[in-house]
Amino acid sequence: STFAGLGLNDWLVDQVNALGMHRPSPIQHFCVPKILDGSDCIGCAKTGSGKTAAFALPILQKLCEDPYGIFGLVITPTRELAFQIAEQFNVLGKPIGIKVIVITGGRDSVLQGIELSQKPHIVIATPGRLADHIENTQHVSFKKIRFLVLDEADRLLEDNFNEQLETIFSVLPKKRQTLLFSATFTETLRELQDVALNTPFVWHC
Ligand code: AMP
Repeated sequence: STFAGLGLNDWLVDQVNALGMHRPSPIQHFCVPKILDGSDCIGCAKTGSGKTAAFALPILQKLCEDPYGIFGLVITPTRELAFQIAEQFNVLGKPIGIKVIVITGGRDSVLQGIELSQKPHIVIATPGRLADHIENTQHVSFKKIRFLVLDEADRLLEDNFNEQLETIFSVLPKKRQTLLFSATFTETLRELQDVALNTPFVWHC
């Protein structure tokens, strides 16, 4: 298959081709059309499977059609992953002037608050620092996000981020698309699915 065959717009197809990506990986092949159709999605995927582009491409396409406020929120367990995901969004979304910010511990919290208030398109965050921002400032609004991505969801649960995730979920709109990616599927993960997702399309391991 081709990226154009997945339903992606020409500018995104040009962008992935320019980056040397010519054939969709399996997770991209199965998940991108479902996400473009509006489904929630569960993808069983490790790093290296192309999962970042599997969610970034359809999010960028929808963002381009209807940009408003903070459009997408990506939660990931580590700072390193947060910066890697931000890099892929920046590269793929360059033609539309995408504004991406990273919210993680170990960096200036005041500056992050300012960046959040400037309505970026995409926020990539680790749970602890994002929950701090939500609890301590009134002006951060995620009320209108269209996409929530839970990246490496098994690690989010292992690392005991439950309380922070609850804080985050409490300020998100019910009407949204949720995309969950995980290398493994455990019983606790199924509980998270039940809380966070709405009859998802599942791409199995
Ligand atoms: P990820 O699994 O999202 O961490 O991606 C791993 C790497 O594979 C990234 O550097 C991507 O740029 C690259 N990649 C993603 N999808 C494709 C593809 N369809 N063809 C070639 N490389 C890809």
